[in-house]
Amino acid sequence: MYEVIKEINLKTIVENFKNIQNYVGNVDVIPVIKADAYGHGAIEVAQSLISYVKSYFAVAFTQEAIELRKNNIKNNILILSRSGFDDVEDLYNYNLTPVVHDFFVLQSIIDFSKSKKCRLPIHLKFNTGMNRLGFNKSDLNHIIELYKKNKDFIDIVGVMSHFSSSESDVRITSKQIDEFEDIVNTIKSSDLDVRYYHIANSGGLLNYKNAYFNAVRAGISLYGYYPKKIEDNPINIKPAMSIKSFIISKRIVNKGEGISYGPSFIADKDMQIAIVAFGYADGLFRCMSNKFNAIVNDKICKSVGTICMDMFAIDVSDVEARVGDEVIIMGESKNCKIDADDLARFASTINYEILTNIGKSLRTKKV
Ligand code: PLP
Repeated sequence: MYEVIKEINLKTIVENFKNIQNYVGNVDVIPVIKADAYGHGAIEVAQSLISYVKSYFAVAFTQEAIELRKNNIKNNILILSRSGFDDVEDLYNYNLTPVVHDFFVLQSIIDFSKSKKCRLPIHLKFNTGMNRLGFNKSDLNHIIELYKKNKDFIDIVGVMSHFSSSESDVRITSKQIDEFEDIVNTIKSSDLDVRYYHIANSGGLLNYKNAYFNAVRAGISLYGYYPKKIEDNPINIKPAMSIKSFIISKRIVNKGEGISYGPSFIADKDMQIAIVAFGYADGLFRCMSNKFNAIVNDKICKSVGTICMDMFAIDVSDVEARVGDEVIIMGESKNCKIDADDLARFASTINYEILTNIGKSLRTKKV
């Protein structure tokens, strides 16, 4: 079958989850499935993990959580960043837990709960150095006072923070852990009855056992990658996404002739060139032109010329290749492998950006 396709191995994601759980031991693993589970399909990933997740699935905004509810995901859902503005009614109706990081949102939730005479569950987020979202430690007394006055209307189930550099900077990360520990201790000695404390993302759970508290939030590691490429694989995780296309045309290009727009590539010898159905509209980045590779018949082939909207060219001079043959843009053959770290290197970006962009509009096949 001639298809341009994204393949997702859901069993691999389940194995990754179990291996992360083994690695961290007796703390809850919160799978982060925002951005359509980093491109892997949030509903399918949630359905595969449903019986393993003890505490929460995490998403970024309310609509993502509602989609999960509509697809029968009954687990607790934590909304990490964009909720509590004009969607408090939805939080209530769909039984969702927002992360509250600002007094504006805290007040809007309290007002809503008072009007409904209900008690909404929330997690509070504290800023410990990332300086993006979260209350400061100095807000803590005010929050405790506010809670005392409104404890019939808000249930502070969790307290969290987020690392800025857990994959790279020990000094900054240790300072964040200390700051979070201070906040946790103050809360534990107050009236608040908090159940979950969490700060670690994939970098945190990989590198800082003292950052586990009683839950960790696993994003990129769930999908088989580390936040930064490392040589060994301490958690024993595997990529779950492959991108495959096929050769739609083949031609000889003579020495001295250009290939594709520009042309940004001039043939330095007579070359066999294959044209592959996949381009920047499918999630390649144009800046990867003349840099990345693809696999044809178990051989790595260099891309040549500027990436077009829905095509690119590869040099197949050294491989048997015919129109219709499969081309692996990301994935593995018997002897060759290209992963999101490789593509990220050629695009000067990170594996997260590759996974969340590549093949977004393609048919997805679960394997
Ligand atoms: N927690 C929060 C608040 C996040 O924003 C993210 C991802 O962006 C994660 C956890 C997961 O991070 P990672 O994919 O590095 O595990």
